Amino acid sequence: SLSIGIVGLPNVGKSTLFNALTKAQNAESANYAFCTIEPNKAVVPVPDSRLEVLSDLVKPQRVQSSTVDFVDIAGLVAGASKGEGLGNKFLGNIRETQAILHVVRCFDDDDVIHVSNSVDPIRDIEVIETELILADVQVLDNRLERMEKQLKGDKTLAPKIEVAKQLIAHMNEGQPASTFPGEHKALGDLLAELHLITAKNVIYCANVDEDGVAEDNEYVASVKALAAERGAEFVKISAKMEEELVGLDEEEQKEFLESYGIEESGLHQIIRTGFHSLGLISYFTAGVKEVRAWTIHDGDKAPQAAGVIHTDFERGFIRAEVISYDNYVKFGSESKCRSEGVLKVEGKDYVMKDGDVVHFLFNV
Ligand code: GDP
Repeated sequence: SLSIGIVGLPNVGKSTLFNALTKAQNAESANYAFCTIEPNKAVVPVPDSRLEVLSDLVKPQRVQSSTVDFVDIAGLVAGASKGEGLGNKFLGNIRETQAILHVVRCFDDDDVIHVSNSVDPIRDIEVIETELILADVQVLDNRLERMEKQLKGDKTLAPKIEVAKQLIAHMNEGQPASTFPGEHKALGDLLAELHLITAKNVIYCANVDEDGVAEDNEYVASVKALAAERGAEFVKISAKMEEELVGLDEEEQKEFLESYGIEESGLHQIIRTGFHSLGLISYFTAGVKEVRAWTIHDGDKAPQAAGVIHTDFERGFIRAEVISYDNYVKFGSESKCRSEGVLKVEGKDYVMKDGDVVHFLFNV
């Protein structure tokens, strides 16, 4: 499933947002009994109205959304990469995530102390990104040192050593790993091994007050511009509002959002943006026991999609019976789709489409 790491300076609203995420997790925790609850991780259901439509048709015993894991790191401050504060220890948690949510303070409030005594989102972003770059360089330096020792016995390490040096030089100029030019195998291998934080996709998240949600204030505008300049994703949320929102039922949420002149909760935006930036889509399985959404990459073929359910499904894949979401809803059941001829039997080269309702056949 998708995992997102939350970073940002102290007092920008991370904990407030994380509390909202944890509440969203607990609201559905009955469905997630299999998840270990960890203090710095929230497993949040992906909102998808198609899931409800399908379960109204199938009336299964249970409905299971796909989930996004949010990982919070406490106390990332200037100097964290040098071991000041708790930062560096916690950065490890973030290496395993696929995307970074960078929360930025975009509200004025004299009662909330800013670590640098003024609100300046661009400066704040630079402080955090510098720490992340330094932390990555440390990882790279360690790796380089080890590879240089191993080079005598393993000459194949030479191209990797070369690319590591270039990458370190690039990052020592204050650049994230993601802007390192070129694509060669040694680089790909290195990045896959090291899980560098600054190689991940970033979603810049402007946190505003209730009165900032409809109109963009100047802070928000500057973060938006920076995101655009870097080709990164951007969302604007009010962490405080999200906390209130998660406690409400669906109808109340709608009214609440409308009263502020917005259409979509920040949490939904973050998840949707995360899916988009990582090229993720969903497919469904729809049985009487369970209607469930699964997360795959756009472009995945049927066996890979089956592998998300169970690795045996991928290994023993025979074929997939596929109904598009629209056809499923139009005809109302698998058997009707079958008799109408819109259930397609697909082989191992079938490229999955968003919303496919699928039944896999496989050997064990
Ligand atoms: P963290 O250190 O990044 O985890 O920040 P917190 O979530 O603990 O927030 C720091 C303080 O800012 C808390 O007192 C929050 O209630 C407050 N806060 C968070 N978001 C907002 C906001 O949008 N507006 C205002 N005025 N205060 C906020």
